[in-house]
Amino acid sequence: MKITGVKVHLVEWNRGPYHWRDGIKPNGPLAQAGLMRILTDDGLEGWSPCGAVDIEEVKYQLIGQDPLDRELIWQNMWRNLRTSNLGQAIGPVDCALWDLFGKMSGLPVYKLIGAMRDRIPAYASTVTVDSLQEYMDLADTYLEKGYKAIKLHAWGRLQQDAELCRELRKKTGDDIVLMYDASSMFNLYEDAVWFGHRLEEQNFFWYEEPIDHFNMTVLARLAAELKIPLAIAEATHGGPWDALAQIRAGAGDIILTGPLDPYKGGITGVMKTAHICEGYGIMCAIHGGAIPHLHAALAIYNTKFFERLVPETYYSAPGFMDASTEIDSEGFARPWDKPGFGIEVDWEWVKKHSIGTLE
Ligand SMILES: [Mg+2]
Repeated sequence: MKITGVKVHLVEWNRGPYHWRDGIKPNGPLAQAGLMRILTDDGLEGWSPCGAVDIEEVKYQLIGQDPLDRELIWQNMWRNLRTSNLGQAIGPVDCALWDLFGKMSGLPVYKLIGAMRDRIPAYASTVTVDSLQEYMDLADTYLEKGYKAIKLHAWGRLQQDAELCRELRKKTGDDIVLMYDASSMFNLYEDAVWFGHRLEEQNFFWYEEPIDHFNMTVLARLAAELKIPLAIAEATHGGPWDALAQIRAGAGDIILTGPLDPYKGGITGVMKTAHICEGYGIMCAIHGGAIPHLHAALAIYNTKFFERLVPETYYSAPGFMDASTEIDSEGFARPWDKPGFGIEVDWEWVKKHSIGTLE
């Protein structure tokens, strides 16, 4: 079998505006998403969610290759990251090749990688909202739906964020798992460590990206001072090798990686990273909540949750359907019983919302 082409369908829809922490430009009402299709000479296709990619670079790497040579393709792409625009593409390409293998073999991707479990607890990973009351309402909504874990993305204001964490713990009681994501906002050690102690007081499960992700020196100092586990490396480039360097520097306790993140390397890169973490006896947490993330999380021994971004409508294009948005009444995510990732597409919706096709 040979790869004969690559297509990327880009769509845009009205999701409504939202913002992240203070200092980051708010997002307008329009959201964009994409679907990558890898085409083959026997008619089978591999699909993955994606963003815009450099289609000429991707085609150069893929056309004429055997789509089952995933490791060869991965290594070739990785060797080109420093001189190409493939950093955004390596994740979706690798995911689409796994989807194709799933369709060939009639099995879901997580079974092909080696399933650890068939379902996994999801945590509700919030957007930033305007007021403490809105956070409490958001928490009520998702606790009522069955979630047993919540991660806050908040404003980045030391005192107010600490108050938010206190109020949320007061509301949930001790049985709900809580995490806090600082999105690298605290650049002074004294701020980051003060906030970490506030999270410890409220028995938070992890403290994500407390300071600039390149500052491994201060991360290591924080990790040594704080009892709460630091979750790090979500935004660093360098995939498995960066994870190894972060661990050996003592920069944190949990490594974040995601199959669609730039420079993390898709399912193949995430599994390499997870196995490095396993060797060190630490958790590998999956960053992001699309369908490849769910399949990866189901196959990794040393992970505990699937990240479901909420509200769901903020992140999922209505024309691309899969199991990642379906959390059951006990707070678990589970894949559909379909080959590959089980992605379904409403092509009429895609046509109506298309902003272009790369091929
Ligand atoms: Mg994060």
